[in-house]
Formats: sequence, C-alpha cells, structure tokens
Amino acid sequence: MRPDILNPLFAQATSLPGIGPRLAKLVEKVAGAAVVHLLWHLPRDVIDRSLSPAVADAPAGTIVTLRVAVDRHMPGQGRRPYRIRCSDESGFLTLIFFHAHADYLTRALPEGQSRIVSGIVEEWQGKRQMTHPDYILTDAEAEKMPKIEPVYGLTAGLTLKTLGKAVREALDRTPELAEWLDPAFLRQRGWAPWRDALRAVHFPAGRKDLEPTHPHRARLAYDELLANQLALGIVRARMRKLPGRSIKGDGRLQQKVAAALPFRLTGSQHQALAEIDEDMAGNARMLRLLQGDVGSGKTVVALLAMLKAVECGGQAALMAPTEILARQHFATIDPLLKAAGLKAAVLTGRDKGAVRKEVLAGLADGSVPIVVGTHALFQKDVAFHDLMLAVIDEQHRFGVHQRLTLASKGRGIDTLVMTATPIPRTLLLTSFGDMESSRLTEKPAGRKPIATRTLPVARIEEVIAAIERALPTGAKVYWVCPLVEESEVSDLADAEARFADLKRRFGDSVELVHGRMKGAGKDQAMLRFAEGSARILVATTVIEVGVDVPDATIMVIEHAERFGLAQLHQLRGRIGRGVRPSSCLLLYAPPLTETAKARLQILRESEDGFRIAEEDLRLRGGGEILGTRQSGMPEFRLADLSVHGDLLAIARDDVKLILARDPELTGPRGQALRTMLYLFERDSAVLNLRSG
Ligand code: ADP
Ligand code: MG
Repeated sequence: MRPDILNPLFAQATSLPGIGPRLAKLVEKVAGAAVVHLLWHLPRDVIDRSLSPAVADAPAGTIVTLRVAVDRHMPGQGRRPYRIRCSDESGFLTLIFFHAHADYLTRALPEGQSRIVSGIVEEWQGKRQMTHPDYILTDAEAEKMPKIEPVYGLTAGLTLKTLGKAVREALDRTPELAEWLDPAFLRQRGWAPWRDALRAVHFPAGRKDLEPTHPHRARLAYDELLANQLALGIVRARMRKLPGRSIKGDGRLQQKVAAALPFRLTGSQHQALAEIDEDMAGNARMLRLLQGDVGSGKTVVALLAMLKAVECGGQAALMAPTEILARQHFATIDPLLKAAGLKAAVLTGRDKGAVRKEVLAGLADGSVPIVVGTHALFQKDVAFHDLMLAVIDEQHRFGVHQRLTLASKGRGIDTLVMTATPIPRTLLLTSFGDMESSRLTEKPAGRKPIATRTLPVARIEEVIAAIERALPTGAKVYWVCPLVEESEVSDLADAEARFADLKRRFGDSVELVHGRMKGAGKDQAMLRFAEGSARILVATTVIEVGVDVPDATIMVIEHAERFGLAQLHQLRGRIGRGVRPSSCLLLYAPPLTETAKARLQILRESEDGFRIAEEDLRLRGGGEILGTRQSGMPEFRLADLSVHGDLLAIARDDVKLILARDPELTGPRGQALRTMLYLFERDSAVLNLRSG
C-alpha cells in the first residue's frame, strides 16, 4: 500500500485550487491526472523580467520591466485601442489595450502616479509601446512579480498563469521524504535533497538552470532512473528465485526440422541457438533477449529452441503482437513442424467457438505441443499441459506484467524475447534491466543491399513514373503512409486518398491495409499482395513488424520525417529480402530541421540497425526513439537518455548493491526506496517484495 505521506500527491488535479473539471482535463493532457504529475512537468523555458532599462534604452521585441509615470489616458474610439501615455526621464512609452475596461484601467494606472509595468516592448513609427503588459504593479507590490518566471508546456485553453499556480500549489503540498540516495553519493555529486531539488527546478534562476545536466535536474533524472532500475531489478530477482528446469532434449526434432530448412543457418544464428540451449539446459530460468534486424532470421532460431521443449515432452508458445504476425509465424512454422510430424495450433482473439475450444483442449491435454498466438494466450482460460518455453516476439509492445502472466502459466518457464528493433544498450537497460541478450548481426546469405534515396514530396510524380516502369518487370511495392495517433482520422484519410490516387493509375493491382480494418479484410489484402495478384500495397504502419513478402523490392515512405529512425529502418527491412536489388524512397515534406536531415542521412548511409538505433538515440533522446507511445518502452519525464545515459549505468549498479544488501527493502534506506517506488508509480514492483 502506498504510504500515507504520499496521499496529497496522488489526489486528482481537481483538488488544486482553481482547477475545476474542465481545466483538469487540460492539465491531464499536458501533465497527468494527479497532483504528482504536475511535479514532473518541468519548465521548458523561462521568461526573464530582470532587464529594467530606461524607457529609451529598452530594446524592441524583448521583455522588460519599466518604472514609468502615468501621464495621460486616451480612451479608445471605434476600432482604436485605449492608450495610456507614460514616461520616464529618458522618454515616452505608450501602453495599448484592446477591448479595454476603462474602469479597471483608471484604477490600475491612475494619472500622475508611478507604476511598474512588465511585458514586451515594441517600436512603432519610432515610438515605444507595450501592448497588454503582463504585470502592472505599484512600487509596494513590485516584490510580487517574479524576475524569472518558469514557462511550462501548455495546451489550448490552459494559460501559463493557471498552470504555474497549480504547479506551485503542488510543490507546496509536496512532503519532505526520507532520503533514498546513499549520503556519500549525494555528497560526491553535490546534489540537494529531493524536495529542494524539485523546488529549485521549478523556480529556475535563469536559462542555465534548465540544462538537463544542471545538478538539480540531474538529481531528479537519477531518481526516476533509479525507480525504473529498481523496479526491474526486483521483478528480475523474483523471476530468478522461481525454480527453473533443465531442458536438454536429444536434438532429434531439431535435426529433423533443420534438415527441412531450405537454407543453412548463419553463424550468428548458430551462436544464438547455442546460447539459448545453454540457458535452457541450466537449472535457472532463462530470460533472454534475441535481437536482430528484420529478416535476420530470429523466427527460425525461436522455432528450433521451441523444439527443445517438445523433445523433453513439454510445450512451447510463441506470442506475437498482432494478428497478422501471429498468422504469419504460424504459416512459416507449421509446414516445418509437419516435416517433423508435429502439430501446431494458432490462437488469436479471432478464434472463437468450436475452433477455440479445440485448441484449448489440445493445449490442456498436451496433444498440441506448439502454439502461436497473440495476447489471447494470456487469457485466464488458457491452460497448458506443461508449458516450458514462452517466446515473445516484438516484446517492446508488451509490458513486464504480461511477460510475468505468461510465465505463470507453467512451472519454471523459460522466456525468450525477440525484438526486431535494435535497442541501444542504454535503452535495453531501461526496459529489460540486465537481461541476457543474443544478437543476430549477420544477414542471411544472398541478401542484396538496399539503395535508399530521399526526395521532397513535390517529386512524387517521378516516383510514380518509376513504379510504372518497374511493375512490368514484376516489382512489388510497399507504399507507406504515416499514421500518427494524435491525428489518426486525417492521417487515415491521407492513406485512403493515396490509395484512391494509385488505384486510378494502376487499377486493381493496388491494395490498402490499415489498423482500423477488420482482420479478414486485412489478411485478404496482404494475401493478394503476397501471392502477386496485387502489386502495390498502400499501408499505414501495420506492416511495420514482421510481415514477409520476400519478392517486394520497392518501398515508398511518405512523410518520412514524421517517423522514428528505428521505425523507418524496420519498414525498410520489408524489402531487400529476395534475390533482386531493392530501393527505398523516402519522401519528405520540406523544410526539414537540421536533426531531421541528419536522421535521413543516416538511413541513406547505413543498413546496420544497431548503428542506426545508437545514432537515433544520440539525435533524439530515448523517449522518442521507438516512435510513439505505443512502443511500451518506458517514457521518462525527468530523465533524457541522450544526456543522462551515464546516470542510468550508475543507477543499475546502485540497484545491484541495494538488492544485494537489502533484497526485501526493509532497512531504513530500503523503506525510503519503497516510498520512492510509489512516488514513481512502481507499485507493482513493491508488491513483489515480502510484506509489500
Ligand atoms: P526475422 O524474424 O528476424 O524478421 P525471419 O526468421 O522471419 O526473420 O526470417 C526472414 C526470412 O529469411 C524467412 O523467409 C526465413 O525463412 C529466411 N531465413 C532465415 N534464416 C535464413 C538463413 N540462414 N539463410 C537464408 N534465409 C534465411
Ligand atoms: Mg520475424
């Protein structure tokens, strides 16, 4: 249970003064639903009001604070604004008010008195003026105005004034918490206690304080990373404690299937398989990541590993993130298994009634040794006779929790996680902790390099003409349109419009797939493309993972600048799989930012997924690397992995030490760390502790 001391922070934002239900929705959009989320909403800029020159010296276009005498009111007439002439010894300043309330202005700026005004000074026809000052104060009130004001990310309908006030209130409600960092470490870094650091970050003394490497910001980032690493460490330790089983097998089925393969395994496939075999044979539970670019041959490795389990009389499950992928894996695996005289089943959300019943029965009595499915495999009524190995494809879409759910469906289950997104070492740590990993670095023999070009979208006609020339030679084309969550409807319209466009040109050989389509329609479109009756597949990113059409050779990606680099790399991996040379055309809408240019350049230069991922992390920071929020990678609010990577490594080592000394977090520092886990909403990790 969350310690009471944190309760004020976990109240809804509506508990803050001035935040009603309507504003709370907006606050939730920018920061989050609870008070604590406002603490994590760090200023992204400052308004500096410390410049207070003489009126004549005030530089146009900047924010200044001026002390002026109010000379004369000139009420507006018709469309002319209300103007107030002010001055100091150096010159004149006109204050301008549109839609003014004369009453208010006479009270706030009485003629003959002096006032302090702060706002942007402008120059118009050689005269200085200020429209709607942000502050109008008497000398006595001057102290009230912050010289440096934090600027927060906002949304339409939410003003800086309202949000700033809510954040300050949230800070006032923030309790002092027992220090969870090692005192010596804190001293060595020169970091302040948590609450002080938090306050300081929200009251920056200047733009310099916004630097992510500033000690106060670094402290907060470290806390967030520590919570992440500690939560993973606890779950990992628990998994380790669960007894595993030694799964050795006699190689009989592996050999049969390997003999049925139309190719030889690459060196890195052999290597990965050896590592997996060793893990499975050991007494501890396997928890291994199998990383490799799209098309590097992970599925085959997984299949051979699954056979080990079957050789020992057990079962294996392969879980994919989407229906399409599950069915595709099944289509690959099933014929190979048939060669070894084995039965496999597929289970997705679409399987209902009698079909589903039969599969469930087969899994329960063990007559189905291998099953491929989606998250439908997690469901309560799915029981296995003896599940030994769970293979999870594209893991980054599933959470740790789901991993554990599947792992609980058998005794001492080994887990192999496959991912086609090359994950940089730093990111690997944040989502998997210290998970063992095997990397497939070699491409299967016979793969041709992909020629990648970038083109402004204005040259789309050239692209279409090139496709027109390529089609008679048997080319197959993927045409990808982005689908970004926030504007899903209009993006979908774009994809549909492009589809209609290409259809006018190329007729029935064009198909469309997108995420909103029902399973059957999607499969049918994919199928027509795979078998060749359709030659151009217009798609949103549903084709992103796994889909295998080896003779597709052209990939067009619209709005390439809107995709993550890793995502582009994955998409591109759909081509270059067959014997013919392939080309990838990245269409972008100019103008490109420098970063966007650099990113597209990397893609032109390299096909090495690991290098691309590292570069992407360097250029963009971890939060964005895998594209959207859907990626399931942890999103950090305070840490930025492109800057705080070193802190992550320290946090990992810190966690090792913490859990070695006090595995159940019961000592004084342990208790403080528990509170920290709750603060960062890692409640489920605490539940894995004794007396959690
Ligand atoms: P991944 O799952 O890593 O995307 P797959 O396992 O689906 O890759 O393999 C992609 C394609 O390459 C499949 O058609 C597969 O049969 C083939 N393949 C796998 N390993 C090899 C190999 N060693 N040599 C040639 N082709 C291979
Ligand atoms: Mg695959």
